[in-house]
Amino acid sequence: MYETLALVAGGMYQSGAYSDTNNAIGGLGLGGLYIDKWYILLVIPAMIIALIAQARVKSAYKKYSQIPNSRGMTGAQAARMILDDHGLTTIPINITQGTLSDHFDPRNNTVNLSPEVYSGTSVASIGIAAHEVGHAIQHAEHYFPNKVRSAVIPITNFGSNISMILILIGLFVTAFNWLAWVGVALYSTVAIFQLVTLPVEFNASNRAMKHIRNLGIANETDAKGVKKVLSAAAMTYVAALITSLASFLRIVLIVSGSGRRRR
Ligand SMILES: [Zn+2]
Repeated sequence: MYETLALVAGGMYQSGAYSDTNNAIGGLGLGGLYIDKWYILLVIPAMIIALIAQARVKSAYKKYSQIPNSRGMTGAQAARMILDDHGLTTIPINITQGTLSDHFDPRNNTVNLSPEVYSGTSVASIGIAAHEVGHAIQHAEHYFPNKVRSAVIPITNFGSNISMILILIGLFVTAFNWLAWVGVALYSTVAIFQLVTLPVEFNASNRAMKHIRNLGIANETDAKGVKKVLSAAAMTYVAALITSLASFLRIVLIVSGSGRRRR
């Protein structure tokens, strides 16, 4: 769930959660071309939105990780209960180090929970655990948007790696101006990746809400808190999309501006 937290903080690192998308966001930050007016007008405001979203998820987590859930259930117990209810009895639930490092790993089909979520009995613990199990169920059910996202990941990795080089060649070598537009097209894959991530994340949270209610893991008070945490987390994905769109628009403006100057 928190796969993009590092990203929205302006870092270039994605935890590998749910995919190895470390490079998918490589061209997003200051690693762009240079600080220009579009960077200030588009990218910096988007990054501020992303930082606010990140602060909100942290504060929601802080609050609800201190409120015990009504059944005194740990995140691991809640995850096990939902998985078993779906016949996914063989999917292991592991402890992974760090805070908010919870993720489902489709490569080995494991649910990985941070220590606080795994053994914590808070409202946040059952919510986050249920969200990660939501990804496990998507995977098991071959949920279509999830398949689209998986298909887009290698394209985004390739596109984001090579796009900046092509754009720079295109901008500075007149004979190869067209290459800049090839780079722009490849760069758009970063925003496409963030876009196809949205339905997957929202759906995992919707599943989480449904399962904790149906299985009696949470009462209505717990469920309200879980919704606050998961909604705050969802906003970080919206913010990541805004950031990548702002960054994309800036690149388009730079490349089209440079074309006009030449003519
Ligand atoms: Zn997620």
